[in-house]
Amino acid sequence: MKIKGKIHSFESLGAVDGPGLRFVVFMQGCPLRCLYCHNPDSWHISDARFQLTPEEVFEKIHGVLTFIEGVTISGGEPLIQADFCCELIDICHKYKLHVAIDTSGIVSLKKTKTVIEKADMLILDIKDVINDDCKTLTGAGNESCIATLDFCKKINKEVWIRQVLLPEYTMKDEKLKMLGTFLTNYSCITKVELLPYHTLGLEKREELGIENKLSKTSPPTEQDVIHAIDILKGFKKLEDIIS
Ligand code: SF4
Repeated sequence: MKIKGKIHSFESLGAVDGPGLRFVVFMQGCPLRCLYCHNPDSWHISDARFQLTPEEVFEKIHGVLTFIEGVTISGGEPLIQADFCCELIDICHKYKLHVAIDTSGIVSLKKTKTVIEKADMLILDIKDVINDDCKTLTGAGNESCIATLDFCKKINKEVWIRQVLLPEYTMKDEKLKMLGTFLTNYSCITKVELLPYHTLGLEKREELGIENKLSKTSPPTEQDVIHAIDILKGFKKLEDIIS
């Protein structure tokens, strides 16, 4: 039987999820429970709005082919549907489309190696550089994420790193220095983005009856963000790739 992807939604012309304008496929289902998640409606795979074959998804992409530079498969967590991602990448490559996978790296490498090899790049979300803090923030440790990054280094796969700048969690000088030290070990990283935590969309959690443990946490100020970027820019290998 033909594989069908469980899909949350699509964005035809996304400008922030990889290089250039991109068609973004948001896959349904995520094993993490990040305290700041704005899309808890993407958590349960059974809540998928669409169940489509890779060919059916590509029909949607085909409609905007002349406008886009590539496709990003995001989520939820796309790599829990690794086989579907592999098939979609194969079709995109037939049309010479660049494909990025936007992932938290939570799925074990045993299941994701093939899709990582096929993709043109990864956008990897390092939730927290300290394992125990990562568990507090997301419900799971960062071992699998680090193993994913190690594998990308081994096969020289391009990676963009993302981290949400969250006061009292990731936004601490010492932790940002740890992150900087850690990232300098990876020559496959070509971009590092610090994304300021924001509260837009948190009402979705309330609508779904999910507790907001960050109700007392304010977004970082512009100065906070500049300060955090400056800490990472203090690492020579990162100064030209941090934003
Ligand atoms: S990885 Fe993304 S989708 Fe999953 S819980 Fe975290 S923020 Fe939400």
